[in-house]
Amino acid sequence: MGMRIIPIKVGNEKWGKSYFVDGAPQLPAVDIPHMMFYIDGAEKKILVDCGGRDPESESGKLHSKTYTRAPEEKPDVALKRATGIDPEEIEIVILTHLHWDHCGNLHMFPNAQVYVQLDEILDSINPIPRFYKTYESFKYGVVPPYAQQPVKWNFVQGDVDFMPGIKLIEIPGHSAGVMGVYVETDKGPYFLGSDAIPLYDNIENGEIKTSALCLSLEKAYYSAVKLNKMVKETGMIVIPGHDQKVLEHKSFPDEE
Ligand SMILES: [Zn+2]
Ligand SMILES: [Zn+2]
Repeated sequence: MGMRIIPIKVGNEKWGKSYFVDGAPQLPAVDIPHMMFYIDGAEKKILVDCGGRDPESESGKLHSKTYTRAPEEKPDVALKRATGIDPEEIEIVILTHLHWDHCGNLHMFPNAQVYVQLDEILDSINPIPRFYKTYESFKYGVVPPYAQQPVKWNFVQGDVDFMPGIKLIEIPGHSAGVMGVYVETDKGPYFLGSDAIPLYDNIENGEIKTSALCLSLEKAYYSAVKLNKMVKETGMIVIPGHDQKVLEHKSFPDEE
């Protein structure tokens, strides 16, 4: 059997869609699940992103009061439930970017080599003030998640042929070095869009419009051009980074 992508819910927030989609209404607030993704059937045990820190932690409390995590959504518990795999078995963690809701639980995966774009880690160390909280900056008196414990870092630059059937695609704009993950399956390619493509609403009539929440609108524009070209050339199916409907699937492609 080929590869498949398993979405795993590890928390929830509520936000107006206007944060993510240009022209969308601010109300009502909708569920914005936090997710990590396990790539099943790859050469190694690969997790994409690992969720935010516990809502009750000092760092967790920096964020929206709507941020919650049910006991079964703890990343280690949720991973085991969805895949049967223990966190210590994870060999690779790909971090699409270093915003708090994507990289907070590296301590749960002590044996993993961790991959992130070089541009992302550089910017996360000294972001513009608008993003201090988003990176859980030292400026708030907390230790950023990526600096909390020894991490086996690997820094990549640009687009990378990562492993047979898996590519890392840099799509900056939402953050300095956000990347998506392209995965070839028996049913064609899928693409984890992370926060560059947070909702299905960011895809209108087949055309991707990247997140309204941006560090650089200009870079996001060119990333959208790049993504739309990729969709045309490969037929890849986008899996948004924060859409509730993603969780209606046990895996991509769906099991038969
Ligand atoms: Zn983000
Ligand atoms: Zn996010």
